[in-house]
Amino acid sequence: MELFQGLHVFPWLNPTVNNCNTYLLNGSVRVLIDPGHKHLSGHVKDELQKLNLSPRDINTILITHGHPDHMEGIELFQDSKICMHREEYNFIREVAPHYGGIFEGTGFEPHILLQEGTLKIGEFELMIIHTPGHSPGSICIYWPEKKTLVSGDLVFAGGVGRTDLPGGNSDELKRSIRKVMDLDMEYLLPGHGEFLNGSSAIKENFQEIESFYFPLL
Ligand SMILES: [Zn+2]
Repeated sequence: MELFQGLHVFPWLNPTVNNCNTYLLNGSVRVLIDPGHKHLSGHVKDELQKLNLSPRDINTILITHGHPDHMEGIELFQDSKICMHREEYNFIREVAPHYGGIFEGTGFEPHILLQEGTLKIGEFELMIIHTPGHSPGSICIYWPEKKTLVSGDLVFAGGVGRTDLPGGNSDELKRSIRKVMDLDMEYLLPGHGEFLNGSSAIKENFQEIESFYFPLL
């Protein structure tokens, strides 16, 4: 689905088809955000095919965080540059293996370790915002020109990311939400579930999160 010119959503359908929302910035270069689970990557391939694209056409993969349901699918993209936050990479390498299980199948080496700041890929000028809480090196990706925030598992439509997984931290999650909530946004594109369109709907969503979810964290 083309949300607006240059941005395609391969939306969450159900857990047997895919397990996260994948976003494609489609211009003179192509940037794919969160390819999802490996065993479900046929979904991403099919969606690319509908646009007459193949995994080889993807220049860059941005990973919002290192959970398998967001990043395992990188194996499909052998020719792409894989980017993730430095802290998330260190966490996966050093800490996560000791917790067993949840990071299985994520053994890889990223090409670029991100830090907070501007990231220019072709004509796309993006802001990488470090938003720990769901995991230590989670990021949000803000596209100022389009007033669009890709929020990974920090916030959803009507919810927040869980903090009970290894490296999760509720106080950090709140701080990270406060860090992004006042950005100028017309689109909020989360890692799971529905996306939000319109600045007032997005504002309301953050108000609900602050009043309902913050006390529970
Ligand atoms: Zn996650």
